[in-house]
Amino acid sequence: MNLKGPITVTDIHSEIHRTTVDVLHVPERTEDIVAIVHECNETGASISVCGNRHAMGGQQFLTGQHLIDMRGMRACVQYDPDKKTATFQAGANWQDVLSALRLYFSPDGQGLSFRQKQTGADNLSLGGAVAVNAHGRGLTLPPFVSDIESLLVIDAQGQLLRCSRTEHAALFSLVVGGYGLFGIVVEIELRLEQRKKVQRVVDIIEADALVQKVHDRINAGFVYGDFQFVIDEKDPKFLQQGVFSCYVPVDITTPIAKNQAELSPTDWYRLLSLAHTDKRTAFEQYRAHYLKTDGQVYWSDEHQMSTYLDGYHIRLDAERRSPVKGTEMITELYVPQQHIAAFLETAAGHLRRLSANVIYGTVRFIAPDTESVLTWARAPWACIIFNLHIDHTPHGFEIAQQQFRTLIDIAIGFGGSYFLTYHHWATRAHIVTCHPRIHEFLEKKAHYDPEGRFRSDWYDTLVRKLAHP
Ligand SMILES: Cc1cc2nc3c(=O)[nH]c(=O)nc-3n(C[C@H](O)[C@H](O)[C@H](O)COP(=O)(O)OP(=O)(O)OC[C@H]3O[C@@H](n4cnc5c(N)ncnc54)[C@H](O)[C@@H]3O)c2cc1C
Repeated sequence: MNLKGPITVTDIHSEIHRTTVDVLHVPERTEDIVAIVHECNETGASISVCGNRHAMGGQQFLTGQHLIDMRGMRACVQYDPDKKTATFQAGANWQDVLSALRLYFSPDGQGLSFRQKQTGADNLSLGGAVAVNAHGRGLTLPPFVSDIESLLVIDAQGQLLRCSRTEHAALFSLVVGGYGLFGIVVEIELRLEQRKKVQRVVDIIEADALVQKVHDRINAGFVYGDFQFVIDEKDPKFLQQGVFSCYVPVDITTPIAKNQAELSPTDWYRLLSLAHTDKRTAFEQYRAHYLKTDGQVYWSDEHQMSTYLDGYHIRLDAERRSPVKGTEMITELYVPQQHIAAFLETAAGHLRRLSANVIYGTVRFIAPDTESVLTWARAPWACIIFNLHIDHTPHGFEIAQQQFRTLIDIAIGFGGSYFLTYHHWATRAHIVTCHPRIHEFLEKKAHYDPEGRFRSDWYDTLVRKLAHP
């Protein structure tokens, strides 16, 4: 399907990147995409590609050009239990993946499944996970590149290429974590592992105990975990205490109780609403719920699935009779693990000073990625995720920019970094300090795509920023 524009598009979560594209393509077959690339090569038009539009830096849209929306291609095209892989079209989201894999589970639920997915939402495409080199809540896992066996990619010349560690290996390491700039991923051969049963163990701990606790848990065989910290800036424990939930494999015959405690979409909405109006109660309710789930048993894939309420902020704004539109924007900072407590203490001071409105915050852990060119996981980092409220006014954007830049400065002060594309407020100095291979990335871009067939608003902003020292 092709729709001629101008067509207005925006990202789902921050809704900040509202723009218009000239042509929206929703292909159903690989040949359709090859034809679009050839057509754009003839006309000189540029292309951006999107999955479910959750990324917040404007990297899935290109103003006034062609947008390929991959959500028409969501099938599982191959399942190979001997190789322990399954191949999906790039528009498949995590519900599609789990539904397809379930068909092969034995009656007692055993079978092959994925190892990690992003947390916080399921309606995220596999193509998006490849392009941002996503990560989940694994305690010792590298980013998503380690979960990919091979990719089928359409390059800027319209060629269909199989990319892996042995075929077109250089292109493979650019496409993964390449934000859609090196080719359109049409199929992903996903590595699978035997699904496990895991038991959740919940503690309330202080931030300065976190690293030791994580290492103790890893040594005791725990495989997933995260730390959700206090979000109330008036509380002395702001960012200093949190709910530490970890997951340890248990015997596969351990029963999963019926009616386990879980948060319904209504509960999530109530917590999100409270996080805007009464942070103390929001966190108390969140903590009470998690403590109630201590000891519950889950399948290792299902416990990673989560609820995301599309458009929740429109309802919040209406209920609060907010005079201005608001949304949240996520950011992710990295620091060497031994600096996590000091980072959180420093960040708490600056976020209070800058009147930041923290809606939620999490610490997770990541193992280094040695395979992608524009790697963000350059070391065994602690990843600190903040979801900050933004008022959509000139002043609101100005203070958001200051808050997000300050967080990057703090991370750099501890020898850390930040995720390149969650927002576009990083300065030139932030980019080159934290992403030392960025110039190499852009040189390779010029080599593989000299005509700039694949571009995005985020990419154009990046090129402009780096052009002016
Ligand atoms: C609530 C929420 C929670 C999140 N949690 C996490 C998390 O836990 N971990 C994490 O790493 N990230 C997380 N993210 C960030 C990020 O948005 C996602 O990881 C993911 O990229 C979004 O997938 P999408 O399908 O929405 O992609 P989009 O937003 O549509 O696109 C994202 C990028 O992928 C590219 N792309 C999409 N499809 C293709 C394709 N077929 N070929 C080539 N390029 C393609 C786009 O051009 C763009 O650069 C989260 C975002 C939100 C809003």
